[in-house]
Amino acid sequence: MSDQEHTHGVVRPRTAVLTRGFDPTLSVGSARPAVFRSSTYVFANPEEAEKAFAIITGKVKPENGGRAELIYSRFSHPNAEILEDQIVPLEAGGCYSAVFNSGMAAIQTAFFAYARPDSAIVYTTPLYGGTTGLIQKFLKPLGMHGVPVASGRADAIEEAIRGTKDCAIVYLETPANPTMIMTDIERAAEAAARHPSKPVVMVDNTFLGPVFQHPLMLGANLCLYSATKYLGGYSDMLGGVAITDSADMIQKLRSVRSMFGNILQPDECWMLDSRLSTVALRMNRQSKNAQRIAEALHGHKDLSQVIYPTLFTDLEQKRIFAKQCDFPGGMFSIEFKGGKEAAFQFLRNVRIARNAVSLGSVESLVCHPKSTTHSGMSAEELAESGVTDGLVRVSVGIEDWRDLLADFEQALASV
Ligand SMILES: *Cc1c(COP(=O)(O)O)cnc(C)c1O
Repeated sequence: MSDQEHTHGVVRPRTAVLTRGFDPTLSVGSARPAVFRSSTYVFANPEEAEKAFAIITGKVKPENGGRAELIYSRFSHPNAEILEDQIVPLEAGGCYSAVFNSGMAAIQTAFFAYARPDSAIVYTTPLYGGTTGLIQKFLKPLGMHGVPVASGRADAIEEAIRGTKDCAIVYLETPANPTMIMTDIERAAEAAARHPSKPVVMVDNTFLGPVFQHPLMLGANLCLYSATKYLGGYSDMLGGVAITDSADMIQKLRSVRSMFGNILQPDECWMLDSRLSTVALRMNRQSKNAQRIAEALHGHKDLSQVIYPTLFTDLEQKRIFAKQCDFPGGMFSIEFKGGKEAAFQFLRNVRIARNAVSLGSVESLVCHPKSTTHSGMSAEELAESGVTDGLVRVSVGIEDWRDLLADFEQALASV
């Protein structure tokens, strides 16, 4: 990786995201990109067509690490290329990206690019439900077996990596959902680098990235996002992103994507593109709001705990938070002493935040993980990962925090 790529030229990320990757002359001078809905692209001559296919099928390398001419929109299209260039500066250490039509599409494509029959995926638990299902229900019958390890404990994760034969992928989700347990990315990446199979280290960075946590700077190989959450930011689109510093890796992901047909569509690329410049603004506001509210609710008589990084008491968790996160983020969980009944009563009485799954949007959302997002887990897994009857997950938006706090307090008073 050249210095040029690493710092994205002479400007900082928040400037680069507005200035890089889009050439108005290619959109008849328009200040915002045009939307190119075409499914197929006209070649200048048959030789260009032949060359483009030789590149897309991997027979020849593109010149200067560039891209093939456009061929057909399942392989790539202008709005995907603009978005892929513009999103890269947001990820510290990132050089290349690929966009997908959902977070699950990005994760699935990454798994299929690197897992082989008889290989193993070491993964932290609890993990996003869709990802858990993909590993346990879909990849296992195909001969790729999953090795779960509890998030948070670096020694247990190192041991799981060291003890797993033919380890192809180390998959981390930190902080874990909804318990906020953090995993030391750097130590897991070091353990992976010592493994003879040289597993690819993938991090689902949806909760704190790209603004507050930078896995590629800590030795991870691939950052994965549900762009449906903070990147999209308005609960109005689905999307997924993979970002890496490796040209080979992005080539591989794009070629699997071409096969699966799960590239993000032009209109969605255009929408997501327009959200990039405000990701840092939104996430900073959401983190400040969440911190004020979580700290104010801490110690409430009806709550057994408020789970938020600035309230961590475990020394190892405090250490990881201090080391790898710039800010605590916009997510917290509260646990009711009165169990499910109290949690449901709270959800019925909240007026500003909406009772919905998902997260990262400008409007606040609250949900009861055990009966919704985590209902696919066994009783044992739920108990092990601390997803209890009384737990409510809160995704804080950009409303005025005083209104949100007053609303949560009145809903708590009704319990
Ligand atoms: C939502 C989510 C996903 C899946 O993303 P989709 O865009 O819904 O496919 C994966 N990981 C995490 C942490 C998520 O929150």
